[in-house]
Amino acid sequence: MIIIILGAPGVGKGTQAKLLSKHYNIPHLSTGEILRDFVSNPKSEMANIIKETIDKGELISDELISSIVINRLQQDDCKKGFILDGFPRTLSQARILDEILKQISNTTQRVLVINIDIPIDKIIQRVSGRFSCKDCGTVYNNNFLKPLQNNLCDECGSNIFVTRQDDEESIIRNRVLVYTEHTAPVIAYYQHMDNFYNIDGNGKVEEVNSRILKCISL
Ligand code: ADP
Repeated sequence: MIIIILGAPGVGKGTQAKLLSKHYNIPHLSTGEILRDFVSNPKSEMANIIKETIDKGELISDELISSIVINRLQQDDCKKGFILDGFPRTLSQARILDEILKQISNTTQRVLVINIDIPIDKIIQRVSGRFSCKDCGTVYNNNFLKPLQNNLCDECGSNIFVTRQDDEESIIRNRVLVYTEHTAPVIAYYQHMDNFYNIDGNGKVEEVNSRILKCISL
């Protein structure tokens, strides 16, 4: 199974993708995480340019991100399927993905597109206060999703948490603009597919997860 998760910043794509990855035992490919790992120890001019782009809330070029995705999809663990989170983010990336899928997926593999939907005005509230476990990436929020035990990750027990520079309010506003201009049109691109599902992203993590699982099992 190949699952493509769409949605604005902060709708919970990463959180849901992680749950689906566990449930179906297929890898979760987050382009945001791949890029953040790459720039976490910037040594090259390229890493510095990518970091500046992310920190402004702008998009990395279609060519670069596509080549990163193509490389990742060639790894063995993707043979049985995968979950894409953060790609495609432009119409051009959606067309490139079509080509990639034609080459790598066999006809028995189901391709699903899940769009997680929340009103744009809720995004700032969702993203501000967001932090994640440095070791396993589990995402929390100071306002409504704290770890069960103070300062300990529920999933792996780590006590090291990180915040994203691009979650600062003025940057989120720019990410929302970039989303509206470049990524929202990708929804229209997939909307007519049989396996396109629009999911209400409001509510608890488990509620959204069961809505997604219900659609997938249809
Ligand atoms: P979000 O929470 O906004 O969904 P991500 O973690 O997916 O954020 O991505 C963080 C940043 O990484 C983006 O704002 C962008 O700069 C860059 N990025 C991630 N995926 C892509 C992509 N497919 N195309 C271009 N840039 C990307």
